[in-house]
Amino acid sequence: MNKVKIAILGLGNVGKGVWKILQKNENEIMKRSGYEIEVAKILVRDKNKGRDVEVPEGIITDNFEEILNDKEIKIVIELMGGAEPSKEYMLRSMKAKKHVVTANKLVLANWGEELFKTSQQENVQFYYEASVGGGIPIIREINESLTANRIKTIIGILNGTTNYILSKMTLEGMSYDKALKEAQEKGYAEADPTSDVEGFDVTYKLAIISSLAFGMKVHPDLIFREGINNINTIDIEYAKKFGYKIKLLAIAKEKNNKLELRVHPALVPNNHPFANVNDSFNAIFIKGNAVGDLMLIGRGAGDLPTGSAVVGDLISILRNNELLPAANVLNNRLGIKEIKNSDENEPKFYIRLNIKDTAGVLGQISTIFGENNISILSVTQDINQEEDVSLVFITYNSMEKDMKDSLKIIEQLDSVNKVESILRIESFN
Ligand code: NAP
Repeated sequence: MNKVKIAILGLGNVGKGVWKILQKNENEIMKRSGYEIEVAKILVRDKNKGRDVEVPEGIITDNFEEILNDKEIKIVIELMGGAEPSKEYMLRSMKAKKHVVTANKLVLANWGEELFKTSQQENVQFYYEASVGGGIPIIREINESLTANRIKTIIGILNGTTNYILSKMTLEGMSYDKALKEAQEKGYAEADPTSDVEGFDVTYKLAIISSLAFGMKVHPDLIFREGINNINTIDIEYAKKFGYKIKLLAIAKEKNNKLELRVHPALVPNNHPFANVNDSFNAIFIKGNAVGDLMLIGRGAGDLPTGSAVVGDLISILRNNELLPAANVLNNRLGIKEIKNSDENEPKFYIRLNIKDTAGVLGQISTIFGENNISILSVTQDINQEEDVSLVFITYNSMEKDMKDSLKIIEQLDSVNKVESILRIESFN
């Protein structure tokens, strides 16, 4: 049996998962890869930290140079997270002719091109399945199984933390703050949850998969982004009343060679499977012009699910798969010319206003919408307190710019106390 030495950078959640899978499924992995895998080194920040996995003495190091300079280490698995030194270590590993696997969406979304180029220049393999959707094999799906298609739409629930929070708010009526606190206690949410709840994490993932699917370099900063931090239980209840659930969606749609990219909470119809993707599960919906509609649902995070994707990449390298994802990204443009300005997007809207109960206000607001090309599908009026009224509008597909323009006028009306919520509705067409 051939033998290969590898190194793992990081022994946190995912690093431990990878270590456990390599022990637990040793036989299967050996048969499938054709190699006996030896983890020669594991890099950590703090060598003296207590760990709840047993690893042989001498493997743990806090010195990356030991890994870099060991010519027998052929594959480096980066699982440290963060921008630096992860990016630098990956680039230096490639330059030392080591293949690289990573789960790092932040580095890939922002500096992927540099990594792809370096891997090609150095003729080493570079795999990153776990960077999007944890255990769900979405990267392989796009890079290999669906390459016969022109992909028209990708919609994803790609963040377990926010999906957990929204599930708790929907199914148990919990407030946003309580659900976030519970997510933190269970280890789903970071102490600083900004990247998750404000949608940054999902923009990194959408940037990666849309670059691959649409053959165009997509930087996360170009993606329209809204998080879930302003969602409250009133909107969740209205959504239920109208037959929807609120989910944080990553959306990429191609039309007329323009790519529409957005990350925001959206109302999802109850009869779509996404409405029942709860807790820390992730889901991805893809529409291809040959395959039709396709959906994948699974664990988007966690030590073993994410480790499953990482070890799968390791086995692909050992099998010396010819379909290098790096080549796909750099060489295809697929005819898409530009990313659409988000003002031109045309979703259906859910708008909740807090108004004073005065005569003629509904007519006034409807006129302003009409003058700005917005057609109303339904209006619901609820009296909360004596003179305090909620007006909820559902619109037909309308331009973002028209909606912004009308709300600018509407919020100036004496009869309007506040524009409470602006949400979008996704019908998966
Ligand atoms: P984590 O639990 O915070 O673990 C990070 C590990 O890296 C720790 O062992 C830490 O060492 C080590 N480390 C960090 N900075 C280092 C440095 N400068 N030098 C040496 N070692 C360093 O992170 P994680 O949750 O496993 O995530 C790892 C990566 O996987 C991230 O890119 C993340 O986005 C991605 N990912 C995670 C999940 C998930 O479910 N957690 C899912 C998909 C993708 P110490 O132990 O000594 O502190």
